[in-house]
Order: sequence, then C-alpha cells, then structure tokens
Amino acid sequence: MAADTSATPRHIRLTSHSRGRNAPAVQWAATTAAERGPLIGTTGEPAHRNVIGTHSGSYSVYRALAIASGALSRSHRADLTNTSPTDAIGPYPQWSTPGAIVSLDPWGAAVADVFADRLAEGFDIRPTIAVTRAHVILPEVIEAIAKGRLQPDGHFLLPTGAAVVSKAAIEPVWYLPGVAERFGCSQTELRRVLFEETGGMYPELVTRPDLEVFLPPIGGQTIYIFGNPADLADPSVELTARVHDECNGSDVFGSDICTCRPYLTHAIEECILGAQNGGVGLVAYSRKEGRALGEVTKFLVYNARKRQLGGDTADQYFARTECVAGVQDMRFQELMPDVLHWLGITKIHRLVSMSNMKYDAITGSGIEVGERVNIPDDLIPADARVEIDAKTAAGYFTLGPVPDVTALREVKGRELHS
Ligand SMILES: [Zn+2]
Repeated sequence: MAADTSATPRHIRLTSHSRGRNAPAVQWAATTAAERGPLIGTTGEPAHRNVIGTHSGSYSVYRALAIASGALSRSHRADLTNTSPTDAIGPYPQWSTPGAIVSLDPWGAAVADVFADRLAEGFDIRPTIAVTRAHVILPEVIEAIAKGRLQPDGHFLLPTGAAVVSKAAIEPVWYLPGVAERFGCSQTELRRVLFEETGGMYPELVTRPDLEVFLPPIGGQTIYIFGNPADLADPSVELTARVHDECNGSDVFGSDICTCRPYLTHAIEECILGAQNGGVGLVAYSRKEGRALGEVTKFLVYNARKRQLGGDTADQYFARTECVAGVQDMRFQELMPDVLHWLGITKIHRLVSMSNMKYDAITGSGIEVGERVNIPDDLIPADARVEIDAKTAAGYFTLGPVPDVTALREVKGRELHS
C-alpha cells in the first residue's frame, strides 16, 4: 500500500474540528457489547471517531513516525484473522456494574467477534487487549526446583523449569467520568488538567465534552495467569495474586538496590505452587516505572540518596524522592483493581504483597482479601534493606520488623499514600 506522507495543508487535521457525526454511540458499562458500542480511535476516518486520543497509547507516537517516514499507510487496517484470544475472559457482572471498571475496555479482547458487523461496515475498531498462551522461564524458578521448593508436574511447571501461563496485554482505555469519580475531582477539572499537563496534546479533552472515553498515551499492563483463567472468577478456587508495578532496573536487569524482582519471582513461585495445589495464580504487571515517576527521576533519587550526609538511610528514603519529584509516589492505585474486576475476581485468598496502598485499593473496590503473603527474609538482597526498612517505617507494609520511625515521621508529618 502506498504511504500517505504528503504534507499539504489539507492533510493537517485539527481533531477539534471533526464532529464525528457518523460515529457509533458509546454507553459505558452497558450490559452487552452491542449496547456499549465499539470504541473507535482511528485517525484514518475522523468522522468515525468516538474517543479522544488514538489506539496503542504511547506507541501512537511511533506510529506517527512510521507514517512520517513512509513505512506505514495511515489507512492500514489490521487483519485480525486468527488473532482471537486463546482463553475467553468473561463477560462478568463487573463489566456492567457502574464504576467497577473505568480504565480499560472489558470488550477490548473480543472486538473482532462482538463488533464483527461494525468491522464489516468499514469501522476501524482495534483490540485493546490480546490474550495468548506462553511459557515463563526464570532462573529463580529453576533454582527453586533445584532447592526442592518447587516440583515440575509436567502441566503447570515443565521439567525444563518453564511455567505454563495464559497472559494478556492490556492497553489503557479511560472512561473520564469514572476516572474523575475515582480521584474525587470533577470531570471538567480532570479534562482541563489532562489537557494542560500534556501540553495541549488532546484539544478534544476541553472541546468535546460529548466524547467521554480517552485513550491515554501511557503504558498499559500485562497479566500472567497460572492455571485455568476461568477459575479466577470462582471464589471457591484459591487465588494467589500479586499486583506488581514495573521496576525495569530490578525486574529485568537485576538491580541490587531494591526488592522488586525478588518480590516478583517469589510471587511467581507462589502462583505456580497455588496452581499445583488446585488453585489459580495471577500476576498483574503494570507499566508504572519507578512509582510512575519514570527512570530518570528514579536514578536521580538513587544519587541523592547515596550522596547525602550520613549515607543512604531509611529515614531519608521517601524524603529524597519527594525533593526530586515533588511527591513520593504517582502510581495512585485507584485504577489498579479494574483489571481484577475484568477477570471477574471477587476474592483473593493469598495476596503476595505487603503494600497497604495496594491492599486498600483492592479491598476498597469490593474484592475480599484473605491472607497477605510476605517475602521470605532470605530472598531480600542486602543492599535493599534500606528500602524495606523505610517502607516498613512509613506504614507501607503491615508485616515484618518495624525500625525506629521517629526521624521519618518528622520528615514527613503528612500522609504517605500508604
Ligand atoms: Zn525496584
């Protein structure tokens, strides 16, 4: 297909001028996909658009580069042949419970099926969720087998050390009235701040109050399911779960300064054990690098911590972050439980996390949590002790040893988002 790279003025479209008269209506949290309507963020046919922003979140910028360089045609439509989910998820009652899901499209994995007629009519509807099957191969799991903590069963865990999983990639889809409600602000205020803080990137946020869905240019999440995905929605099946926020330096590159990868691999070990014991396991992994402050901020804070007088201490852990970033944490777990509701979860029997912020968000959204599983001490790297002590002192965790918190309280003296 010929690339559309001409730069004549008629190709420069102001999004605020497209009124979308031919766009299908969206009724968020409707009972059926047909009533809810497809979400269309295409740039190819502005009149069809019924959302703000474009598909694939932050990758839309790379898509722009591909079009600018002539590698991609703006009018390209995805051929969805054989891309359907390996495991059907839902629909579950939470999908049509007002307010239960506001940051992803529950029908996002099934668009080729549930909107087949609309696709045939020529609407550019794209999946925001993809579900597939895979292996997870980690040295920590292989080590757990060698040490006798895990035993391959040939089904959930193969003799090679590979764990068999179903996994889903999920792009963010925000229903703005619902997001505003979660954060306790007005929709007008949310739209105005989103518009301003993205440098005016999405004029429709302020010019099109009729468009209530926003595809934000941020990272999404990936879920890993150990066992039968349908069991997640059955509260009689024991569910072991961890919600994990990305820490690339540790998760992938094995940094010694924090406990992120040890936590993640410990949770995966618990999930495998849970599946082997007749339960099901879940790891929900969110792209919210460095408490959603990003890696540049994170590395600046590392330097600030290590260079301060008296060395890297627990009492200065959060203060250093706040000096650089203005806040300690921007993950705001308010939206995190949405993925759990998408999976139909009503009870987590074993939550592999000590974070009160995550626990409060999950239970506050109506999901019951049984036991909270701590990381064994021998899995914590020596250099990560400062982080653990700081988080414990800050009330971040409810378990584990509690160091002296007086100094930290004096530094902070206000809420710690825990
Ligand atoms: Zn980390």
